Amino acid sequence: MHKKDIQHFKDKLLKEKTILEEELKTVGQSNPEHPEDWSATPGEIDTDSADDNEVADKFEELEENKVILNKLEPQFNDVKSALERIENGTYGICEISGEEIEKERLEANPSARTCLKHMQTK
Ligand SMILES: [Zn+2]
Repeated sequence: MHKKDIQHFKDKLLKEKTILEEELKTVGQSNPEHPEDWSATPGEIDTDSADDNEVADKFEELEENKVILNKLEPQFNDVKSALERIENGTYGICEISGEEIEKERLEANPSARTCLKHMQTK
C-alpha cells in the first residue's frame, strides 16, 4: 500500500479513535492502571437528596451505559490495533489469506482485519 493511502487511513482511524474515546467517557471510565479496561459509570448522583426513585433511575442508567460500553469497547480496541498495525507495517493485510485488503473495504471500515472474501459475518 502506498504511503499516502496509509496516511489517509491513519487519519480516519485517529478521528474515529477520538470520537469513540469521547463516547466511552460519557458512559464509563478507564482503569488508570489498565487504560484498555473500561467500566461503566452511572451519571452524576446527588447522594444527599437522592430518593429511591432517583437511585433506581441511576441504576437503570448504569445498566444502559454498560450495554453502550460493551458495544464501544471492541470498536475502540479494533481501531487501536489497526493503528498498531500501521506502526508495525502490517496494516491492510488480510489476517487469513495474507493478501492485501480491498481499498473499498478499508474505506468503509478502516479497522478491518480481513479482505472481503474472509470477512466474518456477525
Ligand atoms: Zn483474505
